Amino acid sequence: MDIISRGKAGLPGVPTSIGHRSLGSWAGITGHHTGGAFSSWKSIHDWQTKGRPAAQRLAYIGYSFGVADGEVTELRGWDHQPAGDHDNKRIQVVFGGAYSRDLPSREDLDAFVAFVLLARRRTGKQLEVIPHRGVWPAGHKYATSCPGDRLAQWMRQDLPDLIGKQPSTPKPPATPGQLAVDGRLGRATIRRWQQIMGTPTDGVISTPSMLVRAVQRHLNKVARAGLTVDGVGIRQDGKSYKTTRALQRYLGTVQDGRMSTPVSQVVKALQRRLNTGRF
Ligand SMILES: [Zn+2]
Repeated sequence: MDIISRGKAGLPGVPTSIGHRSLGSWAGITGHHTGGAFSSWKSIHDWQTKGRPAAQRLAYIGYSFGVADGEVTELRGWDHQPAGDHDNKRIQVVFGGAYSRDLPSREDLDAFVAFVLLARRRTGKQLEVIPHRGVWPAGHKYATSCPGDRLAQWMRQDLPDLIGKQPSTPKPPATPGQLAVDGRLGRATIRRWQQIMGTPTDGVISTPSMLVRAVQRHLNKVARAGLTVDGVGIRQDGKSYKTTRALQRYLGTVQDGRMSTPVSQVVKALQRRLNTGRF
């Protein structure tokens, strides 16, 4: 799914005063509504940053992502702590509009479902979705009716069937063509691996790399590899790395920790595996 960028939504950059959050630290998703007529994320941002009494003003729109017009827009996004003095290990997703009596449009609900599945793939976690009102009991000082009776009911009753259980590794979107099993860790192989792991698909392994982090988390989870999730350790340079050794064990090739050049047996095994549509 495509997420509309802050820039495209007319929002300024996130100020450096907003705390950083890593992808692996998210613990769930909380659903909100804006609670009034919706025009744009920029107008909500302006109201939260300039239109409130001084003591309540935020440095930036407080939510992580917004859903409106059938699209998801990045607000504070994956990398920044959302606002609030409670519960900010959860990705805060807000629907534009008021949903006490009516549901959001089918397009908005579909966009939200797609977002939840994407967030689960990206974080590698079975992120539970709760309506904002479920965070605090009635009578608590933060108790709220958000995201409205009708939308809260949908999140509790309908959503679980739509998002189901998280598969151990996600199925990628259908892509024509198979990778050549040539043992070379090139762009096409990296891109397909990124697509399957749900990380950005630029065809490059950076240092550190989100793809390598996702692979480390997966190997820790399914193969008890005990790796540090630091995003380094997969390079086709003939040197030995712990993560490569764990990958070799996972894929059933010789465990020397090295990806040989120019042709590597573990890369061949990886390419065969990726050609089945899974990792
Ligand atoms: Zn709320």
